Amino acid sequence: MTTPMPAEISHRSKEPTVVEIDGFRGRLISANHADYDSARAVWNGAIDRRPHLIARCIGTADVIAAVRFARDRDLEIAIRGGGHNVAGTAVCDGGVVIDLSAMRGVRVDPTARRTWVQAGALWGDVDHETQAHGLATTGGIVSHTGVAGLTLGGGVGWLMRKHGLTVDNLLAVDVVTADGELLRASRDEHPDLFWALQGGGGNFGVVTSFEFRLHPIGPTVLAGPILWDATDAGEVLRFYRDFIRDAPDELGTVVRFGAAPPLPVIPEDLHWRPVVMVGTCYAGPIEDGERLLRPLRTSRTPLIDLVGPAPYVGFQSALDSTVVHGWNYYWKSTHLPELRDDLIGVIAEHAFSCASPRSYAAMFHLKGAVSRVAEGGTAFGNRQASHAITLDAVWRSGEDFGDRDTAWTRGFFTALGSFRQGVYVNFLGGDEDPDRVREAYGDSVYDRLVDVKTKYDPDNVFHHNQNIRPDAGTRMSGASRARRH
Ligand SMILES: Cc1cc2nc3c(=O)[nH]c(=O)nc-3n(C[C@H](O)[C@H](O)[C@H](O)COP(=O)(O)OP(=O)(O)OC[C@H]3O[C@@H](n4cnc5c(N)ncnc54)[C@H](O)[C@@H]3O)c2cc1C
Repeated sequence: MTTPMPAEISHRSKEPTVVEIDGFRGRLISANHADYDSARAVWNGAIDRRPHLIARCIGTADVIAAVRFARDRDLEIAIRGGGHNVAGTAVCDGGVVIDLSAMRGVRVDPTARRTWVQAGALWGDVDHETQAHGLATTGGIVSHTGVAGLTLGGGVGWLMRKHGLTVDNLLAVDVVTADGELLRASRDEHPDLFWALQGGGGNFGVVTSFEFRLHPIGPTVLAGPILWDATDAGEVLRFYRDFIRDAPDELGTVVRFGAAPPLPVIPEDLHWRPVVMVGTCYAGPIEDGERLLRPLRTSRTPLIDLVGPAPYVGFQSALDSTVVHGWNYYWKSTHLPELRDDLIGVIAEHAFSCASPRSYAAMFHLKGAVSRVAEGGTAFGNRQASHAITLDAVWRSGEDFGDRDTAWTRGFFTALGSFRQGVYVNFLGGDEDPDRVREAYGDSVYDRLVDVKTKYDPDNVFHHNQNIRPDAGTRMSGASRARRH
């Protein structure tokens, strides 16, 4: 679709472009602005898009003004929270980016165990404020990931088996709809919209603020990775499978396959050595965690065992430097069932054959509280899966690993073939078949999402995302007809 470009935001002009949006107080950044290139860059350096205008909002009134401005001119809208999505949906070619990155406020009520978070906040912002009171909610495992996109897709993290997904802890949101109207959605207010926002992504409006439930965590927790040589992957995974089967909900684990990153905690002689790394975080008393984890830590002799008491807030940023802004990324992902021997064989065969030392696969253990919410209880699908795995090609500019490791992720994904069981919508890449969005939800949740989409955004104004299309047959303008087909 070619988006019409209104004269007042033309970037072909040699003169500084005068852009005004009625009632907008934040910054408007167009192509001739000194900050344009940094403002349009997202986490994934492989994404290179040129919006007509970036509307960096400083409040909800700005969001309303920007939505109305874009709609009145039939401009495409992209929504930017933390800018982390691998598919780069936070930025569009042409159109208007509604950029929330200046809205990072976090307020905590320690007594009520609640936090209110503006939609441009990153998980590091939330953990910093909530851990000052020994509280936390389930967030992502990298602190520079945005709260908004992660939450709206579901939210998996170290605490999910004990406290549920991020959306299971969501109590209410403020959301600007496609008509530029501000609504509050919760279980009691617009409950259909609230349900859809608990996993349905950025399809239903621009969320400006989230309210979450908090839980006592740490501030010191038992956490850290255990590393084994890649050649031991099969045996380690068989032990791991049996170990986690009856593990208490307090134990969160993520298995990372790839070269050992040069983190300060990892001795230099292990840097870049292919390893299977089981990351652990125990959300309970440290001595209970020590007792529980002993068999895993002593099964086969690890190369190194880095599990120990650690500040939760520090642990939440331990992986930040392994996934740097501006590197190039290509992901494929799927949910998986319990690790049968034949599945372990496929993983062990493919996980280490990438070319880039920065490429890796990461497998999150689900179950626990995630699977105790009924399917359809929120819009997050496939709650009974055991694991979510992402296969992540990573290369820096100038390196020639891109094609080879993109082929590696695709080959690995194909090899997982019959084991695949749905997918987490936030791990979908930018070149997926649209059917994979349905796969992320399952038929009945997807169909319900279509109903909510048709009610709140019948023209598919918010379509620059993992799109849920409104039902055909409702009213459509010419431009929106183009968006639907
Ligand atoms: C290195 C890395 C680690 C990750 N780790 C985890 C993890 O541990 N757990 C996990 O669950 N996920 C994880 N993810 C995936 C993450 O959930 C998604 O990338 C998510 O989209 C990031 O949110 P964001 O706000 O930064 O995204 P953005 O790129 O800013 O936005 C992505 C999309 O979300 C929607 N969106 C964003 N903000 C809003 C808003 N305010 N209102 C409405 N829609 C909005 C829009 O559709 C937008 O296109 C990780 C991703 C990366 C790259």
